[in-house]
Amino acid sequence: MILDLKMLVGIASNQLPSSPIGTLNQTEAAEILTISDEDRPHIISYSFSPDEELLAGCSEISVSGTLKVVSSMVYLDLRADYFLTVSCDRCTEIFTRKYSLPIEHILVTSHNTDNYDDTIIVIEDSRVDLDELITSDIQLSLPMKQLCREDCRGICQKCGKNLNEGDCGCNDSEIDPRLAALKSLLED
Ligand SMILES: [Zn+2]
Ligand SMILES: [Zn+2]
Repeated sequence: MILDLKMLVGIASNQLPSSPIGTLNQTEAAEILTISDEDRPHIISYSFSPDEELLAGCSEISVSGTLKVVSSMVYLDLRADYFLTVSCDRCTEIFTRKYSLPIEHILVTSHNTDNYDDTIIVIEDSRVDLDELITSDIQLSLPMKQLCREDCRGICQKCGKNLNEGDCGCNDSEIDPRLAALKSLLED
């Protein structure tokens, strides 16, 4: 979805947008959020499929929340719901997990604040690609390591068995021959 800030800011300062969707083709126009009332929050509810190269294993992303224009600034208060299917970095098992990430930003057309806050995004050319913004927020939120569960036991280095499914017995039965010799000495 594309947000046209020039249009939003124009409405916020009581200027009527001249031709908000003038040069766009129909598909683009359909994806542009149209603003009808400055005072009320605008409900945003849509979904999109992220670029597989940017977010591997991600499902369609469902976006919901509100957008509000206050004093030439656009307040985004959204939530992105999606599923990620990845392989565990410890046991290599493929697993799917549901995420619900808050997407909170203030969009401005020029940096008219002294507060340098990472929720503030300065828009250079009035157009904001909301899909791109959300995709990048999700990328930044991804953990360094993907684990199927907090206490994943990984795989046995010897036999390769997934230890989450039970012990393999490698440690109990296979004693290093040198240790076995030592053990028999101690037993004598
Ligand atoms: Zn695992
Ligand atoms: Zn084993």
